Amino acid sequence: MVGGGQLARMTHEAGIPLGIRFKLLSDTPQDSAAQVVSDVVIGDYRDLDTLRAFARGCDVITFDHEHVPTEHLRALEADGIPVRPGPDALVHAQDKGVMRAKLDEIGAPCPRHRLVADPADVSRFAAEGEGYPVILKTVRGGYDGKGVWFVRSESDAADAFKAGVDVLAEEKVDFVWELAANVVRSPHGQAVAYPVVESVQVDGVCDTVIAPAPDLAEELAGEAQQLALRIADELGVVGHLAVELFETRDGRILVNELAMRPHNSGHWTQDGAITSQFANHVRAVLDLPLGDPRPRSTWTVMCNVLGGDYPDMYYAYLHCMARDPQLKIHMYGKDVKPGRKVGHVNTYGDDLADVRERARHAADYLRGTITE
Ligand code: ADP
Repeated sequence: MVGGGQLARMTHEAGIPLGIRFKLLSDTPQDSAAQVVSDVVIGDYRDLDTLRAFARGCDVITFDHEHVPTEHLRALEADGIPVRPGPDALVHAQDKGVMRAKLDEIGAPCPRHRLVADPADVSRFAAEGEGYPVILKTVRGGYDGKGVWFVRSESDAADAFKAGVDVLAEEKVDFVWELAANVVRSPHGQAVAYPVVESVQVDGVCDTVIAPAPDLAEELAGEAQQLALRIADELGVVGHLAVELFETRDGRILVNELAMRPHNSGHWTQDGAITSQFANHVRAVLDLPLGDPRPRSTWTVMCNVLGGDYPDMYYAYLHCMARDPQLKIHMYGKDVKPGRKVGHVNTYGDDLADVRERARHAADYLRGTITE
């Protein structure tokens, strides 16, 4: 796996019971996955020679992020190394312009959008629709809300053009909630769909995920799963695909973005589904039959644990574990920095209000924002 973040750490964990030898290319030995994987190469994935040397001896390559340059992936394929997902699929998760063009082509519903050249063009885009506000996104390199601007006027738009990357304008969707339809597809074309989840974002960062999405009409949930399966198929995705969605006030589903790797909106599956997203990603990448994606309990809630003011979060285990013996804690071994994702918790049960409260409480207590 290329990339040493928490997604690699948890994918490695899912491969252990299958006896899979997991090799990692990581930026530094301190990275979340590099701390726990025994076969680690430290190096820069942007350097083709490093990537080639790493890939030699691997049966298959997969990723914990989308940043490996497309041409490098093509070079690995030319060397005869299976790359999953392959470059033709992955480019849709790397470049929001390419993604929107493809989704238009296959008739997947998207917010109104087009590439824009400069701030004056943003005003023209606004005038073609409902006017400002408009959302601007750099087509490459954004994550966790970085590379996304809420723009209220032409003068606001200047920042988005500073990075020198193409800029995509989108109508600001008046959504009721954000959803994620997660599916896994194998090279064979076998695919499974997880229940559609609600993803609650705070300041552009995923905060809470509720599985299944509590107020989503059954018909719309089915539509979202079908849409995600169709996108996975049309784009030739191998592995986990997260389709981030908006539900609009008039009951439509629109695609926000795609991620082709295990995804934060699927962390609940570690404790809440028969087969986790990580286990199914491993199976798909190795072209093994996929595992059952169905939930184990009525409700599962995941809350991210963000870094707070205390560098040592382990002191909080005593309280959290004693208060809630069913709580599942997943920490990533990262240094605690304020606002950084350092772990998550999962809770499950039959009473949604209780399940939510327990996850919220544990995440806040671990962060140190509450003390009882
Ligand atoms: P990132 O690549 O950082 O995850 P996203 O495209 O997912 O960027 O945008 C981050 C957040 O910004 C979304 O989760 C959503 O809350 C908001 N957002 C993005 N696009 C739109 C849009 N067209 N209309 C309204 N809100 C949006």
